[in-house]
Amino acid sequence: MQDSTAHIAIIGGGIMGSFCGFFLRHLGFRGRITIIERDPSYRYTATARSAASFRTQFSCKFNVAMSVFGAEFLKNTQTWLNRDSNIGLIKRGYLILHKQAVNHTAIKAMHEAGAEIAIFPKKELQQRYPYLNIEDISHATYGLKNEGWFDAWSLLQAVQAKNRALDCQYRHENVKNVPTGSDGQALGVVLEESGLLEADWVINAAGPESAAIHQNPKLTLPVSPRKRTVFSIRSPLNDPEFPMLIDTSGVWIRPEGQGHICGIVPPPHRDPAAHGDYQPDYDLFEEYIWPALAQRIPQLESLKMENAWAGHYEVNSLDHNGIVGPHPDINNLYFATGFSGHGLQHAPAVGRGIAEHLLQGAYQSIDLTPLGYQRIVRREAIVERSVY
Ligand SMILES: Cc1cc2nc3c(=O)[nH]c(=O)nc-3n(C[C@H](O)[C@H](O)[C@H](O)COP(=O)(O)OP(=O)(O)OC[C@H]3O[C@@H](n4cnc5c(N)ncnc54)[C@H](O)[C@@H]3O)c2cc1C
Repeated sequence: MQDSTAHIAIIGGGIMGSFCGFFLRHLGFRGRITIIERDPSYRYTATARSAASFRTQFSCKFNVAMSVFGAEFLKNTQTWLNRDSNIGLIKRGYLILHKQAVNHTAIKAMHEAGAEIAIFPKKELQQRYPYLNIEDISHATYGLKNEGWFDAWSLLQAVQAKNRALDCQYRHENVKNVPTGSDGQALGVVLEESGLLEADWVINAAGPESAAIHQNPKLTLPVSPRKRTVFSIRSPLNDPEFPMLIDTSGVWIRPEGQGHICGIVPPPHRDPAAHGDYQPDYDLFEEYIWPALAQRIPQLESLKMENAWAGHYEVNSLDHNGIVGPHPDINNLYFATGFSGHGLQHAPAVGRGIAEHLLQGAYQSIDLTPLGYQRIVRREAIVERSVY
């Protein structure tokens, strides 16, 4: 597929769509690339509202492998993108607390996929983090490398700038539909103001609203926008090595600037599809987060919540894993969506995978076949259990 007259239309200019464009060029595609984005401010996109953390502690091996490549990319943005790029990278592990016995099978699987995970028994955990109340904890796992956090907005800006330099065109319109022709293949995308934009290939990277693109009842994506609120707090807690802590309650907390940010996945009965709703859910903080933090870290009893924002996870309700690759019948329609809260760190691997599949006919680096749309059709879930 090195035809210089070919045209690839990518729906969504967030991190997924932008990395698809980047890797298509990186792997040598010389044709036209149009990235269609309806909101040039990117104000409400998942990418801009993300907590922007990365980890190798996943239950599915392909997610570990994608994170390892993502981390390599993040550590080397000055080589990949621009020598002046600064994404504020902090390399520090996720400290995940456990009540049960050590799951050696899970840790072995993570190591096989490229992670390096330490196990801190109770005594060592208390020595390292004396401020933690670990009465009910048996041990913790900690990512020794390829974990940390960064500034998502800076990364998005750097990829987009590189894409523009590589002649990927960002076009600001709303995509209404992906029509198919008499041969059953995608004709391109229908734009709200300009009508049909013909394309040889279409990639749906529209994030939390990616399901709304398809008006074909045979083509459903089990992806919907679920609101996640991030709270910014100040407290007397002062540990320069404070990790990304995942509590057994589901609450996560990590350093950010002079304070910390924290959040929790709401219980299912408080987690409807949240189209257009970006109001922070302050009750979550009072009811779940503050009590859990004060119990785990007594110093946090006197914390002060200073700010909050809400964004949307693109939740794949089948199994909390991404949906990646071509549609089995509409072969020129690709998906890059459904990452359910871990898409930022996986975007480089997804962009590379899609570019490999589209240009070379098969995945070359990481086999992303398990993430294909076939499992959606067959309702064969491959559940990612580590979702925060
Ligand atoms: C609060 C929060 C915390 C998170 N924390 C993490 C984290 O710590 N680590 C991590 O890896 N991930 C995290 N995520 C998830 C991560 O941010 C997302 O998985 C990732 O940003 C998804 O990128 P995307 O490009 O698919 O979606 P988006 O960034 O939402 O981009 C999709 C784009 O498509 C555009 N679009 C949609 N419909 C159309 C249309 N019809 N026509 C034209 N354009 C359209 C939108 O305007 C948008 O710009 C978090 C998300 C949230 C909300």
